[in-house]
Amino acid sequence: MGYNLQVSIDKDSGFCFGVVYAIDMAEEILEEDGYLYCLGDIVHNDEEVARLTAKGLRIIDHDDLPQLKNEKVLIRAHGEAPDTYRIALENNITLIDASCPVVLKLQNRVKTSFDEQEKILIFGKHGHAEVIGLQGQTNNEALVFQDLAELDGVELPAKFTLYSQTTKSTDKFYAIKDNLLSRGYEVKANDTICRQVSNRYEDLGIFAQKFDKIVFVSGKKSSNGRVLYEVCLKNNPQSYFVSDPEELSIDMFNPEERIGICGATSTPMWLMEKVKTVLEGY
Ligand code: SF4
Repeated sequence: MGYNLQVSIDKDSGFCFGVVYAIDMAEEILEEDGYLYCLGDIVHNDEEVARLTAKGLRIIDHDDLPQLKNEKVLIRAHGEAPDTYRIALENNITLIDASCPVVLKLQNRVKTSFDEQEKILIFGKHGHAEVIGLQGQTNNEALVFQDLAELDGVELPAKFTLYSQTTKSTDKFYAIKDNLLSRGYEVKANDTICRQVSNRYEDLGIFAQKFDKIVFVSGKKSSNGRVLYEVCLKNNPQSYFVSDPEELSIDMFNPEERIGICGATSTPMWLMEKVKTVLEGY
Protein backbone atom coordinates (compact mmCIF):
# COMPACT_ATOMS: atom_id res chain seq x y z
CA MET A 1 0.00 0.00 0.00
CA GLY A 2 1.29 3.40 -0.94
CA TYR A 3 1.07 6.66 0.98
CA ASN A 4 -1.72 7.95 -1.26
CA LEU A 5 -0.71 11.62 -0.84
CA GLN A 6 -3.15 14.18 -2.25
CA VAL A 7 -0.89 16.51 -4.23
CA SER A 8 -1.79 19.85 -5.89
CA ILE A 9 0.37 22.41 -7.66
CA ASP A 10 -0.33 26.12 -7.14
CA LYS A 11 -1.56 27.34 -10.52
CA ASP A 12 -0.13 30.82 -9.92
CA SER A 13 3.41 29.58 -9.25
CA GLY A 14 6.02 29.29 -11.95
CA PHE A 15 7.86 31.73 -14.18
CA CYS A 16 6.99 35.42 -14.17
CA PHE A 17 6.63 37.09 -17.58
CA GLY A 18 10.19 38.50 -17.39
CA VAL A 19 11.68 35.03 -17.15
CA VAL A 20 9.34 33.55 -19.78
CA TYR A 21 10.43 36.30 -22.18
CA ALA A 22 14.17 35.66 -21.61
CA ILE A 23 13.87 31.89 -21.97
CA ASP A 24 11.71 32.14 -25.10
CA MET A 25 14.26 34.45 -26.65
CA ALA A 26 17.12 32.09 -25.76
CA GLU A 27 15.33 29.02 -27.12
CA GLU A 28 14.53 30.74 -30.38
CA ILE A 29 18.18 31.61 -31.01
CA LEU A 30 19.41 28.21 -29.82
CA GLU A 31 17.19 26.58 -32.38
CA GLU A 32 18.63 28.71 -35.17
CA ASP A 33 22.28 28.96 -34.16
CA GLY A 34 22.83 25.86 -32.03
CA TYR A 35 24.56 27.88 -29.29
CA LEU A 36 24.25 31.17 -27.45
CA TYR A 37 26.26 32.93 -24.77
CA CYS A 38 24.37 34.14 -21.72
CA LEU A 39 25.81 36.55 -19.19
CA GLY A 40 25.16 34.90 -15.81
CA ASP A 41 22.63 32.18 -15.02
CA ILE A 42 19.63 32.81 -17.26
CA VAL A 43 17.40 32.06 -14.29
CA HIS A 44 18.21 31.27 -10.66
CA ASN A 45 17.26 27.68 -11.07
CA ASP A 46 19.98 25.07 -11.67
CA GLU A 47 17.61 22.52 -13.22
CA GLU A 48 16.31 24.96 -15.83
CA VAL A 49 19.86 26.16 -16.54
CA ALA A 50 20.92 22.54 -17.09
CA ARG A 51 18.02 21.99 -19.50
CA LEU A 52 19.10 25.01 -21.56
CA THR A 53 22.84 24.33 -21.46
CA ALA A 54 22.06 20.89 -22.91
CA LYS A 55 20.52 22.78 -25.85
CA GLY A 56 23.67 24.85 -26.35
CA LEU A 57 23.40 27.75 -23.90
CA ARG A 58 26.85 28.79 -22.70
CA ILE A 59 26.85 30.63 -19.39
CA ILE A 60 29.67 33.15 -19.04
CA ASP A 61 30.50 35.71 -16.37
CA HIS A 62 31.59 39.33 -16.50
CA ASP A 63 35.29 38.39 -16.61
CA ASP A 64 34.67 36.36 -19.78
CA LEU A 65 32.85 39.10 -21.66
CA PRO A 66 35.89 41.21 -22.66
CA GLN A 67 37.43 38.03 -24.15
CA LEU A 68 34.56 37.52 -26.61
CA LYS A 69 34.36 39.16 -30.02
CA ASN A 70 31.76 39.10 -32.81
CA GLU A 71 29.35 36.89 -30.87
CA LYS A 72 25.76 37.07 -29.65
CA VAL A 73 25.31 37.42 -25.90
CA LEU A 74 22.01 37.26 -24.08
CA ILE A 75 21.27 39.65 -21.24
CA ARG A 76 18.91 37.99 -18.81
CA ALA A 77 15.87 39.48 -17.08
CA HIS A 78 17.89 41.07 -14.23
CA GLY A 79 19.38 43.64 -16.59
CA GLU A 80 22.95 44.92 -16.80
CA ALA A 81 25.02 47.94 -15.85
CA PRO A 82 26.11 50.44 -18.56
CA ASP A 83 29.62 48.93 -18.58
CA THR A 84 28.32 45.75 -20.20
CA TYR A 85 26.82 47.72 -23.10
CA ARG A 86 30.11 49.59 -23.53
CA ILE A 87 32.21 46.40 -23.67
CA ALA A 88 29.76 44.85 -26.15
CA LEU A 89 30.09 47.85 -28.43
CA GLU A 90 33.89 47.75 -28.29
CA ASN A 91 33.98 44.02 -29.07
CA ASN A 92 31.32 43.96 -31.75
CA ILE A 93 29.13 41.77 -29.57
CA THR A 94 25.45 41.64 -30.47
CA LEU A 95 23.49 41.89 -27.25
CA ILE A 96 20.23 39.99 -27.18
CA ASP A 97 18.64 42.12 -24.53
CA ALA A 98 16.10 40.18 -22.51
CA SER A 99 16.20 42.63 -19.59
CA CYS A 100 12.75 42.59 -18.03
CA PRO A 101 10.75 45.74 -18.87
CA VAL A 102 10.02 46.18 -15.15
CA VAL A 103 13.75 46.21 -14.39
CA LEU A 104 14.50 48.56 -17.31
CA LYS A 105 11.92 51.01 -16.03
CA LEU A 106 13.49 50.90 -12.58
CA GLN A 107 16.96 51.44 -14.07
CA ASN A 108 15.62 54.53 -15.84
CA ARG A 109 14.07 55.92 -12.69
CA VAL A 110 17.30 55.41 -10.75
CA LYS A 111 19.26 57.07 -13.54
CA THR A 112 16.90 60.06 -13.62
CA SER A 113 17.24 60.47 -9.85
CA PHE A 114 20.99 60.30 -10.16
CA ASP A 115 21.03 62.84 -13.00
CA GLU A 116 18.95 65.13 -10.81
CA GLN A 117 21.63 64.79 -8.13
CA GLU A 118 19.45 63.04 -5.60
CA LYS A 119 21.20 60.89 -2.99
CA ILE A 120 20.10 57.30 -3.58
CA LEU A 121 19.63 54.34 -1.27
CA ILE A 122 18.73 50.92 -2.68
CA PHE A 123 17.16 48.21 -0.56
CA GLY A 124 18.59 45.14 -2.27
CA LYS A 125 20.84 42.15 -2.01
CA HIS A 126 24.57 42.84 -2.18
CA GLY A 127 26.14 41.40 -5.30
CA HIS A 128 22.81 40.53 -6.95
CA ALA A 129 22.90 41.11 -10.71
CA GLU A 130 19.88 43.41 -10.72
CA VAL A 131 21.35 45.50 -7.90
CA ILE A 132 24.70 45.78 -9.72
CA GLY A 133 22.77 46.96 -12.78
CA LEU A 134 20.94 49.58 -10.69
CA GLN A 135 24.09 50.78 -8.99
CA GLY A 136 25.68 51.12 -12.40
CA GLN A 137 23.11 53.82 -13.21
CA THR A 138 24.57 55.91 -10.40
CA ASN A 139 28.25 55.53 -11.17
CA ASN A 140 28.20 53.11 -8.23
CA GLU A 141 27.43 55.96 -5.86
CA ALA A 142 24.11 54.61 -4.57
CA LEU A 143 24.23 53.07 -1.12
CA VAL A 144 23.00 49.46 -1.16
CA PHE A 145 21.77 47.78 2.01
CA GLN A 146 19.90 44.55 2.57
CA ASP A 147 19.15 45.06 6.21
CA LEU A 148 18.35 48.11 8.35
CA ALA A 149 21.10 47.16 10.80
CA GLU A 150 23.63 47.86 8.05
CA LEU A 151 22.70 51.53 8.25
CA ASP A 152 23.50 51.78 11.96
CA GLY A 153 26.47 54.04 12.42
CA VAL A 154 26.39 55.13 8.77
CA GLU A 155 26.03 58.85 8.26
CA LEU A 156 23.14 59.28 5.84
CA PRO A 157 22.28 62.48 3.99
CA ALA A 158 19.39 64.43 5.53
CA LYS A 159 17.37 63.92 2.34
CA PHE A 160 17.46 60.94 -0.02
CA THR A 161 15.51 58.80 -2.46
CA LEU A 162 14.84 55.19 -1.58
CA TYR A 163 14.41 52.43 -4.18
CA SER A 164 13.94 48.71 -3.87
CA GLN A 165 15.18 45.72 -5.82
CA THR A 166 12.12 44.32 -7.65
CA THR A 167 12.01 41.05 -5.71
CA LYS A 168 12.21 42.32 -2.15
CA SER A 169 9.46 41.92 0.44
CA THR A 170 6.90 44.75 0.40
CA ASP A 171 6.39 44.52 4.17
CA LYS A 172 10.09 44.95 4.81
CA PHE A 173 10.31 47.86 2.37
CA TYR A 174 7.55 49.80 4.15
CA ALA A 175 8.96 48.96 7.58
CA ILE A 176 12.32 50.39 6.44
CA LYS A 177 10.67 53.50 5.05
CA ASP A 178 8.79 54.13 8.31
CA ASN A 179 11.89 53.55 10.37
CA LEU A 180 13.97 56.01 8.33
CA LEU A 181 11.20 58.62 8.49
CA SER A 182 10.94 58.20 12.24
CA ARG A 183 14.67 58.89 12.51
CA GLY A 184 13.99 62.30 11.01
CA TYR A 185 15.25 61.79 7.45
CA GLU A 186 13.44 63.28 4.51
CA VAL A 187 12.77 60.14 2.47
CA LYS A 188 11.33 60.04 -1.03
CA ALA A 189 10.34 56.38 -1.06
CA ASN A 190 9.62 54.55 -4.30
CA ASP A 191 8.03 51.16 -3.95
CA THR A 192 9.60 49.51 -6.99
CA ILE A 193 8.80 45.94 -6.02
CA CYS A 194 7.53 43.93 -8.95
CA ARG A 195 3.84 43.13 -8.77
CA GLN A 196 4.52 39.67 -10.20
CA VAL A 197 6.19 38.99 -6.86
CA SER A 198 4.19 41.08 -4.39
CA ASN A 199 0.79 39.94 -5.72
CA ARG A 200 1.82 36.40 -5.01
CA TYR A 201 2.23 36.97 -1.27
CA GLU A 202 -1.40 37.03 -0.38
CA ASP A 203 -2.45 34.27 -2.77
CA LEU A 204 0.42 32.07 -1.70
CA GLY A 205 -0.45 32.55 1.97
CA ILE A 206 -4.01 31.39 1.29
CA PHE A 207 -2.72 28.45 -0.76
CA ALA A 208 -0.29 27.38 1.99
CA GLN A 209 -3.05 27.24 4.60
CA LYS A 210 -5.07 24.74 2.60
CA PHE A 211 -2.64 21.83 2.95
CA ASP A 212 -1.11 19.64 5.64
CA LYS A 213 2.33 20.28 4.19
CA ILE A 214 3.90 22.53 1.59
CA VAL A 215 6.79 21.70 -0.71
CA PHE A 216 8.24 24.96 -1.95
CA VAL A 217 10.44 24.41 -5.02
CA SER A 218 13.12 26.99 -5.78
CA GLY A 219 16.79 27.48 -6.58
CA LYS A 220 18.86 28.44 -3.55
CA LYS A 221 20.10 31.61 -5.27
CA SER A 222 16.64 32.99 -6.01
CA SER A 223 15.88 36.15 -4.01
CA ASN A 224 12.13 35.97 -4.43
CA GLY A 225 12.34 32.25 -3.63
CA ARG A 226 13.52 33.15 -0.13
CA VAL A 227 10.83 35.78 0.31
CA LEU A 228 8.01 33.56 -0.97
CA TYR A 229 9.19 30.60 1.09
CA GLU A 230 8.96 32.78 4.20
CA VAL A 231 5.36 33.54 3.25
CA CYS A 232 4.66 29.78 3.10
CA LEU A 233 6.34 29.15 6.44
CA LYS A 234 4.37 31.91 8.10
CA ASN A 235 1.12 30.42 6.87
CA ASN A 236 2.06 26.79 7.23
CA PRO A 237 4.92 25.85 9.59
CA GLN A 238 5.12 22.47 7.84
CA SER A 239 6.72 23.93 4.73
CA TYR A 240 9.79 22.41 3.08
CA PHE A 241 12.22 24.23 0.79
CA VAL A 242 13.41 21.92 -1.99
CA SER A 243 15.61 22.68 -5.01
CA ASP A 244 15.64 19.22 -6.52
CA PRO A 245 13.17 16.31 -6.23
CA GLU A 246 16.10 14.22 -4.92
CA GLU A 247 15.98 16.21 -1.69
CA LEU A 248 12.58 14.72 -0.91
CA SER A 249 12.25 11.62 1.19
CA ILE A 250 9.28 9.54 2.16
CA ASP A 251 9.82 10.06 5.90
CA MET A 252 8.99 13.77 5.47
CA PHE A 253 5.34 12.77 4.96
CA ASN A 254 2.53 10.71 6.47
CA PRO A 255 -0.01 8.60 4.61
CA GLU A 256 -3.07 10.40 3.20
CA GLU A 257 -1.64 13.91 3.75
CA ARG A 258 -2.64 16.79 1.51
CA ILE A 259 0.46 18.36 -0.02
CA GLY A 260 0.65 21.70 -1.82
CA ILE A 261 3.49 22.38 -4.26
CA CYS A 262 4.45 25.95 -5.13
CA GLY A 263 7.53 27.86 -6.19
CA ALA A 264 9.32 31.10 -7.05
CA THR A 265 9.12 33.26 -10.19
CA SER A 266 12.20 31.36 -11.37
CA THR A 267 10.82 27.85 -10.79
CA PRO A 268 9.84 25.99 -13.96
CA MET A 269 6.45 24.29 -14.00
CA TRP A 270 8.04 21.06 -15.28
CA LEU A 271 10.12 20.86 -12.09
CA MET A 272 7.06 21.24 -9.88
CA GLU A 273 5.37 18.53 -11.93
CA LYS A 274 8.38 16.27 -11.38
CA VAL A 275 8.07 16.84 -7.63
CA LYS A 276 4.38 15.97 -7.86
CA THR A 277 5.17 12.70 -9.65
CA VAL A 278 7.71 11.75 -6.97
CA LEU A 279 5.24 12.47 -4.17
CA GLU A 280 2.47 10.54 -5.88
CA GLY A 281 4.82 7.58 -6.21
CA TYR A 282 5.23 7.20 -2.42
S1 SF4 B 1 10.04 39.21 -11.00
FE1 SF4 B 1 9.14 40.97 -12.06
S2 SF4 B 1 10.90 42.31 -12.44
FE2 SF4 B 1 11.73 40.30 -12.01
S3 SF4 B 1 11.94 39.35 -14.01
FE3 SF4 B 1 9.95 38.74 -13.19
S4 SF4 B 1 8.50 40.22 -14.07
FE4 SF4 B 1 10.56 41.08 -14.26
